[in-house]
Amino acid sequence: MSEVPVAKNAGGPAPTGEPLVVLDNVNKHFGALHVLQDINLTIRRGEVVVVIGPSGSGKSTLCRTINRLETIDTGSIGIDGKPLPQEGRELARLRADVGMVFQSFNLFAHKTVLENVMLGQTKVRKTDKATAEKKARTLLDRVGVGAQAEKYPAQLSGGQQQRVAIARALAMDPKVMLFDEPTSALDPEMINEVLEVMQQLARDGMTMVVVTHEMGFARSAANRVVFMADGKIIEEAEPNQFFNNPRSDRAKDFLSKIL
Ligand code: ADP
Ligand code: MG
Repeated sequence: MSEVPVAKNAGGPAPTGEPLVVLDNVNKHFGALHVLQDINLTIRRGEVVVVIGPSGSGKSTLCRTINRLETIDTGSIGIDGKPLPQEGRELARLRADVGMVFQSFNLFAHKTVLENVMLGQTKVRKTDKATAEKKARTLLDRVGVGAQAEKYPAQLSGGQQQRVAIARALAMDPKVMLFDEPTSALDPEMINEVLEVMQQLARDGMTMVVVTHEMGFARSAANRVVFMADGKIIEEAEPNQFFNNPRSDRAKDFLSKIL
């Protein structure tokens, strides 16, 4: 095993699973903007971490560094005991190990729902077509869109498309799932159907990092809330402690605006 430093969490509870995603002193700049500042974060197997904070605080960038959609300047990121790969096939495998669901559903518009969920399996995991299709249909059923398998994304509602995006990520058997504001682009009546799928995933033991403004989800599904502002982790705590008794003024101020 290569060396991956185990970062210390800033103050949340001590979850019991082994470290799965470890960010150690991560720094990143966009030009003059120091977008991630000394980020130390350990996500343990089976943990659900909700990341909240004001717009522009670096939440999306944090997510994107974890599957290397963004590079970092200094520090290290380890996934399951290995440093993030830099390129090539290893990187493709990492992207499969780290499932990502975005605000905009990012489905392939010219492929059917079924093909969307099969594609990564056949291309990256080298699964044969029949097996990939069977798995895709099972997952589509699981997220409640099995009847839409032959349709194209544009024929589905936003909530349905987002559930397909979740199924597509799950088809790769990811070790961890990252959700970056998965319900922010949805009409209000579709938010719950997506949150329910995520709740179920959490109950099933999936390791999850979820950037969201859905505080109900944070309260009921998160083991830990990470509060970011200005590129820093300001506070980490169990949801009840965080929402009822935030320690920092920044968190108090943020919560007073959203709750
Ligand atoms: P959040 O998701 O918390 O709203 P982001 O991670 O998207 O925050 O962005 C953090 C800061 O970095 C913002 O000021 C944003 O404008 C800036 N930023 C994000 N992506 C880029 C980029 N590719 N190039 C330059 N600046 C960026
Ligand atoms: Mg964002």
